[in-house]
Amino acid sequence: MPTVALIAHDGKKDDMAIFVARHAEELRGFDLVATGTTASVIRKAAPTLSVRAVNSGPRGGDVQIAAEVLSGEVHAVFFFVEPMESHPHDPDIKTLERICTLQDVPLALNFATASMVVRALRG
Ligand code: PGA
Repeated sequence: MPTVALIAHDGKKDDMAIFVARHAEELRGFDLVATGTTASVIRKAAPTLSVRAVNSGPRGGDVQIAAEVLSGEVHAVFFFVEPMESHPHDPDIKTLERICTLQDVPLALNFATASMVVRALRG
């Protein structure tokens, strides 16, 4: 089963809750991994989904996801970024974006793109 990683900055966690609730049926077909707080949001918004948590983003979670992308364990990343705030872990965010580009792994940075990619992945 392909693995999808889900990450949402604090300003986009409500969007992530809506996204997983709306696409729960499609997402059930994937192994899901998420950064710490995003995983909690997903479990609350879509209790039928099973999601593995790595560290919170500011505590290295984005880098853990990047490592899984690099080793071929993650096949798509849905990363809802908050563009109006600065982030202490910006270098980690850049690393994840760079590794996805390097590995040619789909990286959806907003709700609209993630909605298209989730359908494409389900074929
Ligand atoms: P979080 O991390 O899910 O633990 O809040 C997301 C991030 O800020 O990268």
